[in-house]
Amino acid sequence: MKYTDTIIYGGMIVTMDPDFRILEDHFIAIDSGKILDILPRQQLKNFSAKKQIDASGCLVTPGFVNAHTHVPMSYFRGLADDIPLDRWLNDYIWPLEAKMISGDYVYDSSLHAAAEMIKNGITLCNDMYFHADRIAEAFTKAGIRIIISQAIIGHNFKKDPSEIAPLVDRMKGLYQDNPLVDCAIAPHAIYTCSKEILKACADAAKANDWMIHTHLSENQKELEDCLKEHSKRPLEYLESLGFLEAKCLFAHGVWLSGSEQKKLANAHAAIAMCVHSNLKLGNGIAPLKDMLQNSVKLAIGTDGVASNNSLDILGELGTLARLHKGINHDPTILSAKQAFSLLTIDGAKALGKGKDLGSIEIEKQADIAIIDIDNLATIPLYNPYSHLIYAVKSEMIRDLMVAGKLVMENRTLINLDEAEILNTAKSYKDKILQEIHR
Ligand SMILES: [Zn+2]
Repeated sequence: MKYTDTIIYGGMIVTMDPDFRILEDHFIAIDSGKILDILPRQQLKNFSAKKQIDASGCLVTPGFVNAHTHVPMSYFRGLADDIPLDRWLNDYIWPLEAKMISGDYVYDSSLHAAAEMIKNGITLCNDMYFHADRIAEAFTKAGIRIIISQAIIGHNFKKDPSEIAPLVDRMKGLYQDNPLVDCAIAPHAIYTCSKEILKACADAAKANDWMIHTHLSENQKELEDCLKEHSKRPLEYLESLGFLEAKCLFAHGVWLSGSEQKKLANAHAAIAMCVHSNLKLGNGIAPLKDMLQNSVKLAIGTDGVASNNSLDILGELGTLARLHKGINHDPTILSAKQAFSLLTIDGAKALGKGKDLGSIEIEKQADIAIIDIDNLATIPLYNPYSHLIYAVKSEMIRDLMVAGKLVMENRTLINLDEAEILNTAKSYKDKILQEIHR
């Protein structure tokens, strides 16, 4: 008899492994946070587990990866919509952040986002904001993974480039014993950071083997201003400052040229597409068809909820898949299987986590979503990828596990008090309205 922590049995396992195996009549044995084995059902009798999870009528998939977020923006959702990016930032978001943001505010709003991410199947997100230590604290309480990065931005970070390396040094040792938290370095964008700051970020990333997380080519104005000011396109400008010698996660990539895409494909760099944010802010549509042809490494992110306005990343993926078929008049672009890869294994790889996360494989971390498809919208089932992209709703995600521990069971959060989070959110509304009208 083999003793193990948890067994998941009875579901259809969408592994996202290199062979894209779909396993029926198998079970997953989980021990010490990792996937110990994946075996045919007949061998279940040889195992004894502390917890057995019956996934009958469910898809069992890797947890979802959200490759670009601003977690603490939860309370800014719906506050200012239907205006261009520069006005949205300058007239609303940045003044409000200057007045509202404190460590406690960030902690409360991050708990809210963590709860919402769990409900949407997300087990890892890549974040950029202020008071990153309080975000890490909230996500550790929630029990889900995050890559934090302290946003480096002109209006409240008028720093000397010599302050970048100490910032990294300060964060470096902090989370080495916390398996849920990792760090990156995040110059906000080329239009909010000086050339010297950007270069110092690239140098620090290279020296510490840290990922750079930044916005790139989000809208046409950024491209035009960059051409005017530096006589280079945004990625060429960053390349001249050493970015492409480091690991990079670029958010958006809406206005990338073919030659920029080829540079990206040859670098240790990926694009996190944020389709809903780009559409809503009128920034355009990332050239997915060309990026696929140019072998750019891709992932998907929600961006912050103030620009999205949702963390329903599965729904967002459905939009992405449909949109590019529509605008290219070609239904073969981005198959459902390719699309689901963006949310799982490709997302993990884009964040440098492909070795441990992103698929259900022996020895990998047990980050797993159990999705109940035993209902009108998803029966009968012919192809799980098809349902995941075109039919499944995030509300069907029944259980979610990170490192072998359930963080949601039967839609109930395990480590967080949902009622308390809702009450806290309500209490912030008046404070935010007072500040905005002051
Ligand atoms: Zn962003």
